[in-house]
Amino acid sequence: MRKGIAVSPGVAVGTAYVIHEIFVAREGEQLDGEQVNAEVARYERACEQTADDLRALIQKVASQVGATEAGVFQSQLTILHDAAFTKRVRNWIVKERQPAQAALRRLLDEYTRIFARISDDYLRERLTDIRDVIVRLSSHLTEVLKPGSRAISGPLILIADELLPSQVVAIGDRPVAGIITQTGGTTSHAAILARSRGIPAVTGVRGILRQVRNGATVVVDGRDGHVIVNPSPEVTSAYRKLQREFVHLKDSLASNFEQPAVSADGEAVELLANINHLADATTARTMGASGVGLYRTEYLFLTHPDVPDEDEQLATYREVIAASPNRRVTIRTLDLGGDKTIPYLGHSREANPFLGWRSIRLSFEHPEFFAAQIRAVLRAAATADEKGPKSDVRLLFPMITTLEEIRRVRAMVRRAGRALDRQKQPWKEVPIGLMIEVPAAAVTIDNLLDVVDFVSIGSNDLVQYLMAADRDNPKVSHLCQPLSPPVLRVLDQVIRACRRAAKPVTLCGEMAGDPPAFLLLYGMGLRSFSMSPAFIPAIKELVSHLTRADTRQLLQEVLELKTAAQIARVSNDRLASIAPKLAILGTR
Ligand code: PEP
Ligand code: MG
Repeated sequence: MRKGIAVSPGVAVGTAYVIHEIFVAREGEQLDGEQVNAEVARYERACEQTADDLRALIQKVASQVGATEAGVFQSQLTILHDAAFTKRVRNWIVKERQPAQAALRRLLDEYTRIFARISDDYLRERLTDIRDVIVRLSSHLTEVLKPGSRAISGPLILIADELLPSQVVAIGDRPVAGIITQTGGTTSHAAILARSRGIPAVTGVRGILRQVRNGATVVVDGRDGHVIVNPSPEVTSAYRKLQREFVHLKDSLASNFEQPAVSADGEAVELLANINHLADATTARTMGASGVGLYRTEYLFLTHPDVPDEDEQLATYREVIAASPNRRVTIRTLDLGGDKTIPYLGHSREANPFLGWRSIRLSFEHPEFFAAQIRAVLRAAATADEKGPKSDVRLLFPMITTLEEIRRVRAMVRRAGRALDRQKQPWKEVPIGLMIEVPAAAVTIDNLLDVVDFVSIGSNDLVQYLMAADRDNPKVSHLCQPLSPPVLRVLDQVIRACRRAAKPVTLCGEMAGDPPAFLLLYGMGLRSFSMSPAFIPAIKELVSHLTRADTRQLLQEVLELKTAAQIARVSNDRLASIAPKLAILGTR
């Protein structure tokens, strides 16, 4: 049994599909003289097939997700056509008689060494693209086991060091039952994909690639983050039973998408979706969200081949508004920096990127760029109304630390409105909100509430800053726990302050979709939650079992506890007694 971080709940038993085994490079082997030409031809055919794959992917992603998202594969096509890239591989085949596969491995090793010296996160991300191209080329050179081929069948457990963008797309509709990765935390590509599709997943399982072979039976337990390789027949059958329950539960819950979220004692609860792309807005609708509570706009910038200008942003925001349930969308302005950087904003290496020049701090340094985003949102809010029922668009500002910052934001929004008036552009005034994710803002919330129309608690960041524990670092994940005494105290204070001031408050961090955490937030009086769309059906079911009195009493009990372990135990036990069938959907 191996331990990792539970990033997407549920359990799965399946057949291992190890993504790194694509590289069965025949190192050391040399080609005979007469094999060289055939190997070059084979390599060139693989290049053509890879280019065809990428062109097809660009089309598919552009039509199904959006042109900006297809930009990733456009960059990969450029890498593939880069003369330095293909020429070096060809040279090694011809001059050193290396098999193409080994030459590709060597190229990847070289790039990995070069990139290891680069400190810029964005550039380092480009290594992912290079690796993606090499993996794809390599798959055309080897008889790899493809998911769905006869050699490997049944529900698959994908195992990888990290999941690459192409693998995420290529998984498509294949029966992926679980995901395990060696690296990454709760916000890695793999975690986001898994949660948005409701697939149990565990990240940060170090050394798993050395342990597992393709075709092995593997258990993924996304409740507490453990993984079992080649389990005994008894363990396998126990987990298969749990897996059947999990799948059955998910299917039966998804049928509640048209029902409103109402508690056992008749209170209406707002369940909103967190989205990163246009396609997620449609998922939000099918999962039964009543709106979008967090649209992370930075993904539009991160996946764009260059810079999306005001009109491009306007077009995207309009589409997102039209696709969202009840045309309700809380649009968060750029939240870049930390682990998300784009090259044109002048990022340089920082000793502590999460404590440095990120998010709203970075937006302030690029006022014209930031103002263009604000104008695009104000315009999108107005045009959405011309085309159909009234929209409900709100503007949310991330990582606010001080009163001065939120005042400055308000002044910028006013200026944006005046600029649009001068240009005779239609626009609409929208509510302005701040994210509570910095402890400084949480403890001075009373001072900030006068200046905003609503509040959204970003518990992912709030927890990491409060606990001084990086949310993406598996080594400190035991500290980065929302269900801990300090975090619950602060959340309770923030929610109380908002309720006292009658300011609408939502929580949009991952804990909103975690059933035991949900119980406690509900007990604090919170009635608006935004989460990965896949969690909505289960949380809606949970809400139907809750009463104000019971959850309050549970909260009182929990606030007396002194350790995270005790809190987790008590809230999980309570979940098991309130809604026993949902226990499988929590992460412990
Ligand atoms: C958060 O910090 O809780 C949040 C919702 O924002 P993000 O995960 O994008 O940082
Ligand atoms: Mg955040």
